[in-house]
Amino acid sequence: MKIKDIGEFALIDSIKKLVPTGKDTVVGIGDDASVLKSSKSGMYNLFTTDILVEGRHFDLSRATPYQLGWKALGCSLSDIAAMGGIPRAAVVSIGVSGETDVDFCREIYRGMSELARRLKCGIVGGDTVGSEGGLVVSVAVLGEVEQKRLVLRSGAEPGDDVWVTGILGGSLNGKHLNFMPRVEEARFIVEHLPVKAMIDLSDGLANDLHRLASASRVGFRIDSARIPLDREAIGEMDEEKSVNRALYDGEDFELLLVLRQSRSVDESIKKFSSRFDCGISMIGKVVEESRGVTIAKGEKEKLLEEGGFLHFD
Ligand code: ADP
Ligand code: MG
Repeated sequence: MKIKDIGEFALIDSIKKLVPTGKDTVVGIGDDASVLKSSKSGMYNLFTTDILVEGRHFDLSRATPYQLGWKALGCSLSDIAAMGGIPRAAVVSIGVSGETDVDFCREIYRGMSELARRLKCGIVGGDTVGSEGGLVVSVAVLGEVEQKRLVLRSGAEPGDDVWVTGILGGSLNGKHLNFMPRVEEARFIVEHLPVKAMIDLSDGLANDLHRLASASRVGFRIDSARIPLDREAIGEMDEEKSVNRALYDGEDFELLLVLRQSRSVDESIKKFSSRFDCGISMIGKVVEESRGVTIAKGEKEKLLEEGGFLHFD
């Protein structure tokens, strides 16, 4: 059987059954980052990696090496944020052709370093190999989180509210090369809000809602009119098209989170909005698993497919 016949998720599932978990593992394969026991009391370590491959994730005629470096680190920092954690250190591996300009390579690290400095993450090592098959950049990040503040994908329950940071659909305008991983916002969220589940938006809202739903064994009912859209990127597109950009474009690197209903939420959301520019919006509710993941527009409610294009009419 070929990978393309079963898909990425089935492959990861079969890998998961094959590999040892390790005695210090609290959460292994299946969340945004793995969670490991720490020698510091009350803390967990977080560990995650991402890889960018030329031709698949980026195109050097569209992305600068600086942007590439920023993005390579940003993807992993976004996964640390999704766990409620603080990034500590990154190691970076590159596969690069010998014909590449040294300055080009340094630009990758300039982009990465700028982001690393802003979010106080060290870059502490890596590996360098020749590659004739295109440029590859892989970053692994070690982070940590207080045990009481750890957030998984699996804690959502019917009756909770679904929220999202920022505005969606901006990849059209290049946000996927220029995003700020929501590390500081996530820290505020775990410190001030009754957050029960969280994931970062890498594969598009529709897909990531399904991942959160299956990890928590719940359904969602999303209100189409409440999805915050990046009007500048989406421009004058009709509403159906613009909602589809938010649902399926991917690489928004915002946080999708589930909050327990509580009277304290309003006050903390106000504080969030005054502290951070990105904004945060309630987009729907958690429902029973049997109701599936749906999206409503006015009176109409439709099942939200994992891939594709949503038509309301
Ligand atoms: P994300 O989009 O948050 O980075 P992924 O979809 O890449 O998450 O991965 C989902 C889960 O599967 C994660 O827990 C990740 O660590 C794990 N995973 C992905 N690819 C592999 C692999 N090749 N080997 C082991 N685990 C993997
Ligand atoms: Mg993720």
